[in-house]
Amino acid sequence: MLAGERGLLVTAREIKPGNVLQLTHAGHTACGPAWVCDTCGRDWPCPTWTKLPTDAARRADLLPGFVRLARRAIRDLRGRPEGPEPPEIVRRFLWFLPLTDEEARAVALRLR
Ligand SMILES: [Zn+2]
Repeated sequence: MLAGERGLLVTAREIKPGNVLQLTHAGHTACGPAWVCDTCGRDWPCPTWTKLPTDAARRADLLPGFVRLARRAIRDLRGRPEGPEPPEIVRRFLWFLPLTDEEARAVALRLR
């Protein structure tokens, strides 16, 4: 990936200052409590996000925002009938990290 490209692919903006972070890629955004993509209707982060190539620099860009969103998604989704368990939510939102099941559980515990 070219160096100046990253800023175009990911736009992070505060909807309410200091509160909600929304990440959008070509309109593929989502927010709680359903966490379904506004554009394609898939579970978010949707394939438009997860198929993007990632390198170390891009992972560093993505991590803070997606950790915040994972925390919100765990609060929104846990306890739902047939909803994903917190470690599954962690792996879904942090798809760009190679987490083992054990690591995903540990991260989920920290985000509760
Ligand atoms: Zn989408």
